[in-house]
Amino acid sequence: MRITRGIRLTSHGADCMGRTHEPGGDGNKARVSCLISAQENRWSYTMCLETPAREPSRVLHWAQSSADFVVPLYCFDPRHLLRTQRCGFPKTGPHRLRFLLESVKDLRETLKKKGSTLVVRKGKPEDVVRDLITQLGSVSAVAFHEEATQEELDVEQGLRQVCSQHGVKIQTFWGSTLYHRDDLPFRPIARLPDVYTHFRKAVESEAKVRPTLRMADQLKPLAPGVEEGCIPTMEDLGQKDPVTDPRTAFPCSGGETQALMRLQYYFWDTNLVASYKETRNGLVGMDYSTKFAPWLALGCISPRYVYEQIRNYEKERTANQSTYWVLFELLWRDYFRFVALKYGRRIFSLRGLQSKEVSWKKDLELFNCWKEGKTGVPFVDANMRELAATGFMSNRGRQNVASFLTKDLGLDWRMGAEWFEYLLVDYDVCSNYGNWLYSAGIGNDPRDNRKFNMIKQGLDYDGNGDYVRLWVPELQGIKGADIHTPWALNSAALAQAGVTLGETYPPPVVTAPEWSRHINQRPQGRNPHPRGRTGPAHPPAPHKDRGVDFYFSRKKDAR
Ligand code: FAD
Repeated sequence: MRITRGIRLTSHGADCMGRTHEPGGDGNKARVSCLISAQENRWSYTMCLETPAREPSRVLHWAQSSADFVVPLYCFDPRHLLRTQRCGFPKTGPHRLRFLLESVKDLRETLKKKGSTLVVRKGKPEDVVRDLITQLGSVSAVAFHEEATQEELDVEQGLRQVCSQHGVKIQTFWGSTLYHRDDLPFRPIARLPDVYTHFRKAVESEAKVRPTLRMADQLKPLAPGVEEGCIPTMEDLGQKDPVTDPRTAFPCSGGETQALMRLQYYFWDTNLVASYKETRNGLVGMDYSTKFAPWLALGCISPRYVYEQIRNYEKERTANQSTYWVLFELLWRDYFRFVALKYGRRIFSLRGLQSKEVSWKKDLELFNCWKEGKTGVPFVDANMRELAATGFMSNRGRQNVASFLTKDLGLDWRMGAEWFEYLLVDYDVCSNYGNWLYSAGIGNDPRDNRKFNMIKQGLDYDGNGDYVRLWVPELQGIKGADIHTPWALNSAALAQAGVTLGETYPPPVVTAPEWSRHINQRPQGRNPHPRGRTGPAHPPAPHKDRGVDFYFSRKKDAR
């Protein structure tokens, strides 16, 4: 579980990767260790599930090596069921909640097979840990992964206070990124570059990815007297099980077991990874991209494990731009986490990282059109409907709907970010807010005023309109690329397609002048098939002449 606000109660010292804080000596306490899972993300339930079968969390690894009893703990924190600050959406939507419950169940089963279990509680980690410390009486340390954003840091602070009051040592770890925070060539973190390319080049040349840890076959037992606790149901947490839409691009369940199966499929069974760079901008189905994000967000799989698998794949099958590009994207994930460390609360502020004054609108009517997929711009509507129905949207879609909300509608970017926060199955506070800031032009985009052209994007990435047809069935009668601009069709064509603008489908809430250049054009784009170009069904021939030059001689960093 990436867990982990692990709490660990042990009399042993820290290993070389952790940081120890000792409020007082731990005297003759029994060597009991308690791990408490914590939220990985600001509002979500994402916490802890850090790949215990293949790669144990550093917290668990540490506890295992130095305690007699370990209490791996996951807390369903009621704060994650509250409402978002501005728009009042539930902080955790049904798709993510279901995924989380599946992940917690999977982790418990995995730990059981190794002689331990996952203790589950409903409550604030601070309160749960206090109760456990009191109940056990012999807790010597509490261990957890450090987080980057304010609400998580507040929980950490609460845990520190509890431990300090009870004379219990705190042991913390950094664990969520590919590159360890302490290995970055930027010290202090305030020196982190504001441009991704500068960050990427520096870490790729100056830092190393730390190896994954090996999980012990047998884990230390749970401390005596600790009840395992029931894993709550969706209903217990006030939500209904969401219906699975057969059109979903992410039909997977939570948990490390599923994450490893997905990796096996995407890398070894199908070689899809070897054509990732060509397919990654697809829109339909499972295969155009890795779909690792939901598991990464919860810590069911670690980026370091993915890295090792890519390196193995490159050795055994092929190394090409696509295999590199997965790492390139994982580095974006790292980058946004480090940006959050550098900027603190500013990642949530209206003016963003650049303290830029923009007169954002708060027009609720426009916002509702956007979130319900009723803007009258089919490419936007298709993506927004997919998100609402499944909890997933492609990266291409996310960039477009974010650009549309901020640049075409001029709405407060935080409204869009909160809608994503509520719905995304892969919601990750740093990636979400970092990307929204970027799209809004007040984050880490070095280009001033980048704006996506919705019509050109629709033609480039959904040339025949199949993706729109999938999610906006009321436009199904419109053939080919014309589906992207129904308002530009004459009344006879609309009548033939069974579309009445304003009745069966809305007219566009806005139109941008630059769209007209692309109306009535046939697609010329890079990836007109919405599934992405098809990848090889067999291992491609290996490249012999790879290395840093291979990676860096080509134009990169296009998003
Ligand atoms: P792949 O294309 O297979 O990429 C591999 C991995 O690289 C992903 O799993 C992810 O961990 C990482 N990655 C790829 N692109 C990005 C990116 N732009 N930023 C950060 N990491 C990236 N991603 C999240 O994980 N959680 C979020 O809450 C989130 N919110 C987003 C909001 C907006 C407005 C935008 C534009 C992007 C957001 N992303 C977010 C990034 C990206 O869209 C998703 O990571 C990606 O679509 C997930 O699908 P995948 O796992 O198949 O990605």
